[in-house]
Amino acid sequence: GVQSKQQLEQQRQALPVYKVRQRIIQEARRNETMLLMGETGSGKTTQIPQFLYESGFAQKGMIGITQPRRVAAITVARRVAIEQGCRLGETVGYTVRFEDCTSPQTRIRFLTDGCLLREAIADRLLRQYTVIMLDEAHERTINTDVLFGIVKEAQKQRRTRGLTPLKVIVTSATMDIDHFGKYFNVRGMYLEGKTYPVKVMHVKETQPDYLHSALVTLFQLHRSDPINHDVLIFLTGQEEIEAMAQQIRQIAKTHDNELHPVRVFPLYAQLPQNKQLECFLPAPSNARKIVLATNIAETSVTIPGIRCIIDCGFVKQRVYNPNTGLDALRIVRVSQAQAWQRCGRAGRDAPGTCYRTYTQAEMESFENMPKPEILRSNICSTVLQLLALGIDCRTFDFLDRPTPEAVDDAYRKLEALGAVRNPKTKPELTTLGQEMTQFPLDPRYSKLLLSASAFGCMEEMLSLVAVLSGENVFISSNEKRELATLAHAKFTSKYGDHLTLLNVFSAFLKTEKVKLWCHDNFLNTRNLTYAREVRKQLEEIVERLDLPLNSCGNNHDQVRKCLLIGLFDNIAELQRDNTYLTIAGRQRARIHPSSVFHGKYRPEYVIFTEIVLTERNFLRQVTEINPDWIADVLPNYAHLNRIKSTLK
Ligand code: ADP
Ligand code: MG
Repeated sequence: GVQSKQQLEQQRQALPVYKVRQRIIQEARRNETMLLMGETGSGKTTQIPQFLYESGFAQKGMIGITQPRRVAAITVARRVAIEQGCRLGETVGYTVRFEDCTSPQTRIRFLTDGCLLREAIADRLLRQYTVIMLDEAHERTINTDVLFGIVKEAQKQRRTRGLTPLKVIVTSATMDIDHFGKYFNVRGMYLEGKTYPVKVMHVKETQPDYLHSALVTLFQLHRSDPINHDVLIFLTGQEEIEAMAQQIRQIAKTHDNELHPVRVFPLYAQLPQNKQLECFLPAPSNARKIVLATNIAETSVTIPGIRCIIDCGFVKQRVYNPNTGLDALRIVRVSQAQAWQRCGRAGRDAPGTCYRTYTQAEMESFENMPKPEILRSNICSTVLQLLALGIDCRTFDFLDRPTPEAVDDAYRKLEALGAVRNPKTKPELTTLGQEMTQFPLDPRYSKLLLSASAFGCMEEMLSLVAVLSGENVFISSNEKRELATLAHAKFTSKYGDHLTLLNVFSAFLKTEKVKLWCHDNFLNTRNLTYAREVRKQLEEIVERLDLPLNSCGNNHDQVRKCLLIGLFDNIAELQRDNTYLTIAGRQRARIHPSSVFHGKYRPEYVIFTEIVLTERNFLRQVTEINPDWIADVLPNYAHLNRIKSTLK
């Protein structure tokens, strides 16, 4: 329900950060850089920007707060707007990729670290801002890591030019503050948080199936624990969460004569925004609230009332292997620090319990700290962005420096894409490279758009890149599986998933009653609407760059050929044992079950969007290609001879 102004004010004042309000304001007046560490949920993200705003820090510019996650930027901005008593987009707003909810009145702006980095390309001094808060610094995303160096340099430049100083506030959960302190040469300030003891329980033996183990644990405690103890379960991603949510509801329903009712709330990045906010609401007094969340609930958002954690000990991470040149999503073990963070989420309001579906011995084998993203990801995009700022990343002041091999590899890739020249001696952006930085996209996708006109398929590529930039547009229904499959079948292209997506999106763009149409076709209205918005923005950039908006009509071969020009590292070849081998990385994989090819047809050569590494490796979104095209489209493709030899 709606809370009164007084209630909100009381809640704000009860947060641990409120006690040090004056000190924070004073320190921010005295120092250019501040380092703040505090327990998750102590009020750093929501309160500090308001303290600074209320004491006049936003008079000559905005207070910008970066978040590694888009969802966090949005939910937190909403909360702060409510506390400020304004509509979202007025005093308090947010900016995330492809979505800007701010106005000239906006003083407190939440934005993703990626968005701020892009702003820095337009203005390295970040003159719009008087304060930048780099929040969730412990997450160590590439973008936040790079922003450390950017804001440090902006501070220096503004100082020497006599401009309004830039205050920088780095906030972090209780992890590894020394590292940041050394980098900025400041001492950190610790916020004292009120936390309650959390009792930790490990499974006795290694579990073959952590999902099953989590489910059993949940129903054991559901039978025994007081009904007002809310439960938070950490899982790895959308599919897992939705599947378990179904199971929990089903079990609770079948046993409704002996069990209390449950209220299950999924929480993951791709969930529609209104659904994400539901988990903050209390459950009815006779029902147990159960939140199933990804890593997002580890530190980025705090759900009140959680007394019990079930931690599966896994997290989905984007990892990059410089040996294979492939970027992949992989389910990996959390670090010990993360396991303790997760555990701490149960002790916010009262003493709690944490059940771990892994043994004590297993936990001891986890890494101590998570590895910073910059040391485990594809840094092409970052290297390109830094070059756009006139910086060769070999000389950049990194908090943790990527290895020379990773840097060389990124430059090599960018050279192959035609974005960079002289990568070894004096790297520079080519004209194409400069144009690539205009798009808020992975360089490979920018390249697709920049090449599409030459293939005569700009309209189609705009649509395809827009859909690929968003989340899954298909709804898989458990109850109405056959109906859903039938509805999706009419969009199927015999050439594969990319053209199928294109068919869906083109039909959507022609539809008037979108809600009804999406409902009938088991398609996700929100994700398609989002893709339409993305397409519009990409089209504006394409027009600014004067690229012809041509269309290949029904000759979709042009689209498939064009895909090669950006995704040339993602070509795979069918093997005798019916698996695929990626040409560039020599990685074995199968076609993902969500593909239109799955269980039907195995093309000799495919191009895929990405590889998902789990117990089994999968190629996600695959399209059949004709190997003869490779020589035409990619005359300098390093692996061409191998393809030719297998064709003989
Ligand atoms: P921190 O950044 O230190 O982790 P936050 O500022 O995000 O803490 O959250 C402070 C408190 O505000 C949380 O403990 C939670 O109780 C409350 N809170 C945050 N977001 C919401 C929301 N969307 N709805 C209700 N309460 C919220
Ligand atoms: Mg926070």
